[in-house]
Amino acid sequence: MPKLATRMGRAKPSAIMVIAEKAKRLKAEGRDIVSFSIGVPNFLPGEHVYAAAREALAKDSGQYGSNRGTDALVDAFLQHIEALGLTGYGRANVSTGVGAKHVLYNLAEALLDEGDEIAFPAPYWTSYLDIAEIVGARVNILPCPPEQNYKLTPAQLDEALQRKPRVFLFNNPSNPTGMVYTRDEVAALADVLVNYPDTWIVTDDIYNTMVFDGVGYHNVVQLRPELKDRVIFTDSLSKTYGMPGWRVGFIAAPEAVAKAVTTLNSNHITSLPEVVSAAAVAALTGPQDIPAARCKEFATKRDRVHKALVSIPGVVCPYPQGAFYAFPDISVAFGKTHDGVKITSDVDFCAQLLDAKGVACVPGSAFGEPRALRISYSCPDEALDKGMARIVEFFAELS
Ligand code: PMP
Repeated sequence: MPKLATRMGRAKPSAIMVIAEKAKRLKAEGRDIVSFSIGVPNFLPGEHVYAAAREALAKDSGQYGSNRGTDALVDAFLQHIEALGLTGYGRANVSTGVGAKHVLYNLAEALLDEGDEIAFPAPYWTSYLDIAEIVGARVNILPCPPEQNYKLTPAQLDEALQRKPRVFLFNNPSNPTGMVYTRDEVAALADVLVNYPDTWIVTDDIYNTMVFDGVGYHNVVQLRPELKDRVIFTDSLSKTYGMPGWRVGFIAAPEAVAKAVTTLNSNHITSLPEVVSAAAVAALTGPQDIPAARCKEFATKRDRVHKALVSIPGVVCPYPQGAFYAFPDISVAFGKTHDGVKITSDVDFCAQLLDAKGVACVPGSAFGEPRALRISYSCPDEALDKGMARIVEFFAELS
């Protein structure tokens, strides 16, 4: 067989998908499984989104569309980000992609030459590392342990930027930790970023509408507008509108970057489908009550999960204030046994939890923090309570 490209030696399937697939398989075999593994919202978009898609379908010419995104979609996104507080952007600052994942992949290709450095905090969303490795970037991971609430400090950022990375990638609210940086914390990071003009700043803010407790959503570019020619804001419909399978992602960026991503689109995907674009416009410009209601619900689910976790002796869980994830430090279990099975790592823990209790979580090592695991709590309350009770029980059975 002829050989695959060298870069495929660096590419691996998403660790989250591996667990999710195993949970699915066990369910199909008849096991009672609670899956906290995959980060999908448990709600659907409003009827107006489907209506727009049906209407577009009736008119769809089946032709190729715009590489950047339809004008209507770009305008809807501009309106959406203005409401978030990101002002002064025009059509030339925008590009789209098949979900934020694709947009981030395009950005990696657009911004990073082989051997260039990209820096980002850990815990990180798994694909950051995978994408960086596929494009051959050097990765500087900035460890943010539970002792610092999984948050990057200005001093850590300053040290990382002294190495002049080509890209600093920042995710807020965070997947996997659910942490949200306060306004002051974002401002302190922005104050460091202004001193390092050689570094692009990619902000992955796809959970920007899912922030609890009045903490609010803040971006470095709002607090230090002089960063505007280096900040690339990334967004997606997947989580906000319950539309992960529609695959729509966006950037608002300096014109040269938006243009580069559009050029990549012209070679990779040509365009988003017209029907999808029409549905996306309806989501962005239609009633915003669904995201607001879901956000409220997630806050109460967060409380249920967090309460159960901190009731377990030795488990530490920084209080998540956004997205729909909790990321407890479960290392107190390491060295113990369950049903005669010794647990020495997060991977052992998750495997044994799934086998013994039918609860699927993702090991923290997939996110660069091997002391933790990720709970995605976007599920009905009944499943949530059942799963959490089983986790509590599992810990009680350790010896
Ligand atoms: N960034 C983060 C932090 C995510 O959690 C995800 C999805 N899990 C993505 C990007 C990709 O989202 P999309 O569905 O838009 O590709």
